[in-house]
Amino acid sequence: MKFCSLCATPVVQKIPEGDSRLRYVCPGCGEIHYQNPNIVAGTIPVYENKILLCKRAIEPRKGFWTLPAGFMENQETTTEAAVRETWEEALARVKLGTLYTLFNIPQIDQVHLFFLATIKDGQYGVGEESLETRLFSESEIPWDEISFPTVKKTLQYFIEDRSNQEFPLRVEDIVRDRKT
Ligand SMILES: [Zn+2]
Repeated sequence: MKFCSLCATPVVQKIPEGDSRLRYVCPGCGEIHYQNPNIVAGTIPVYENKILLCKRAIEPRKGFWTLPAGFMENQETTTEAAVRETWEEALARVKLGTLYTLFNIPQIDQVHLFFLATIKDGQYGVGEESLETRLFSESEIPWDEISFPTVKKTLQYFIEDRSNQEFPLRVEDIVRDRKT
């Protein structure tokens, strides 16, 4: 961040009183611009034992397959975000189940959440951020062309758990080189 989003004064980095971390602070209006992790919410949309995946039309990982997911908007709940993203990317209306995976990814300041979901009427299409969408049976999943590690792990857990029909919440930290 270079300029204050409220008054356009160049910001400075400093530790505000009572705080312990460097923040962008505006010397003009005094605003402290906190930067916090972003939440990505998505679903595992299932219809007749097959899983709906979307081929990404946008970077990053354009051309790779993903579960529908995206950044939460302000004023939105996590479930609303997951349902909205599934509609936007795959034109599928889903009935949400429980929260299934939660990944902390501190090195990129993100938290990824995936909810179990069933496609209401079996209908889906190709949303603006997708090149193609398709229902995959377990043996058809393109493991080498999956977009992100959290998507791959969610699919792996889901297939593993589906054999027992029990889907416990899985919370996992994906830690690589953390920024200092
Ligand atoms: Zn300002």
